Amino acid sequence: MTATLTPAEAARIEAKSALFAPPPAVEPDGRRDLVGLPRDQLAEALLVVCADEREARLRAKQLWHWIYHQGCRDFARMSTIAKPMQARLADHFVIGRPEARTDQRSADGTRKWLFRFRDGQEAETVYIPDREEDRGSVCLSSQVGCTLTCRFCHTGTQTLVRNLGAGEIVGQFMAARDAYGEWPSPKGEAPRLLSNIVLMGMGEPLYNYENVAQAMRIAMDGEGIGLSRRRITLSTSGVVPMMDRCGAELGVNLAVSLHAVRDELRDELVPLNRKYPLAMLLEACRRYPGASNARRITFEYVMLKGVNDSEADARELVRLIHGIPAKVNLIPFNPWPGSRFETSPASAIRRFAEIVMAAGYASPIRSPRGRDILAACGQLRTASQRARRAAA
Ligand code: SF4
Repeated sequence: MTATLTPAEAARIEAKSALFAPPPAVEPDGRRDLVGLPRDQLAEALLVVCADEREARLRAKQLWHWIYHQGCRDFARMSTIAKPMQARLADHFVIGRPEARTDQRSADGTRKWLFRFRDGQEAETVYIPDREEDRGSVCLSSQVGCTLTCRFCHTGTQTLVRNLGAGEIVGQFMAARDAYGEWPSPKGEAPRLLSNIVLMGMGEPLYNYENVAQAMRIAMDGEGIGLSRRRITLSTSGVVPMMDRCGAELGVNLAVSLHAVRDELRDELVPLNRKYPLAMLLEACRRYPGASNARRITFEYVMLKGVNDSEADARELVRLIHGIPAKVNLIPFNPWPGSRFETSPASAIRRFAEIVMAAGYASPIRSPRGRDILAACGQLRTASQRARRAAA
C-alpha cells in the first residue's frame, strides 16, 4: 500500500493550503515585514531602496546577518549600513515579531507564550528546557487552529482559521530567543539555551508545508540562526504523501503522532487515519530519507487509560515498527476541560515501556511539563478567545 505524492495529490493539498493562506506581511502603514522572506525574495524586495540588483543582493546579505544572526530589529542600529540607507529601509520595511499577549512560566521552567499576529489571530509557542543541561526545545505552531480533529488534542477542538506565514513561524522562534536574550546566534555546535525546534504546536505542519519549509530553511541557514537539521523535528499526524517530500527537501527529523496500533482505534483518535491508514503510514516511515539508528523516527504515543495502554497494544506496536530505526515517546495524557480521556496509571505506562524497551526501542516516558500553565496545546488560545468574547 503506497501513497507517494502524485501531481494530482500535490495539487489538491496545495489548493487546500492556499484557501487558508496567511495575509500579506505588511504593516497598516504599508511597510513590508522582511522576516520570513527567502534570500532571493529579500533581495527583490530591497530593489525599491537600491540602485540595481547588485546592490540589492549585497544589502540582502547585510540584512540577513543583522536580522538572523544579530537578532537586530532596528535599522538605526545596523552599523555596517550608512545612515541615509538606514532611513530608507525604515521608510519601507519593518523587522517584525509576533506580539506576546501572554507569557507564562511554569514552576518546572516550561514557558508558554500566546503570540498575536498582525491580523489579531493567535497561536501558542512553548519553550521546554532540558532538565539536566542548558538547552531546550521551542515548540512552534504552524497553523491557527487545525483541520484535523485528533480526539485527545485540545487544538483539535478549534477549527482551522488559517495557515501561519513563514515569518510568523520563524518569528515565534525569534521572539522566544528575544525573551532569553540569545542573540547573536551561537555558531555551529556552540551551546544554546534554545537549541532545538519542534514543529509540534498548533496545526498540522505538512498541511502548511510551503510556509513551514521556508521558515525552517531560514532557521537552518548557516549565516543566520544556523540550527542544524538534526535539531529540528517535524511532527505529523500522518500526511503520508507529504512525508517523502519533507524528508527529501528538508531532511529534518520526523515525529509521527501514532497513538494507536489498530486502524479502528486510530480512525477514531486520529481521524486522518481513515485517509492514510497505519500500513501506509508505516511504509512512509520505512522509506523516510535519512532515518538511521543515529537519526531515529520518533513515534509519539499518548497514554489513554483503558483505551490504548494494554500490554497487547505494546506488543502490537513493537510488531508494527519492526525494522524502523525508531524510538517511542510515551506521553501521559495531559487532561483539559471537556476531554473524555484520563491519563493511564503509572504502572500501565511503565509496563508498556518495558515491553517496547525489551524489543530494543528506546521508550522514554515523558513527564508532563507545565501542568500549572495550561500547557495542553491550544488551551491558552481558547482561554484568550473566551476572554475576548466576554469583553466584547
Ligand atoms: S494533534 Fe496536531 S494534527 Fe491533531 S488536532 Fe491536534 S494540532 Fe491538529
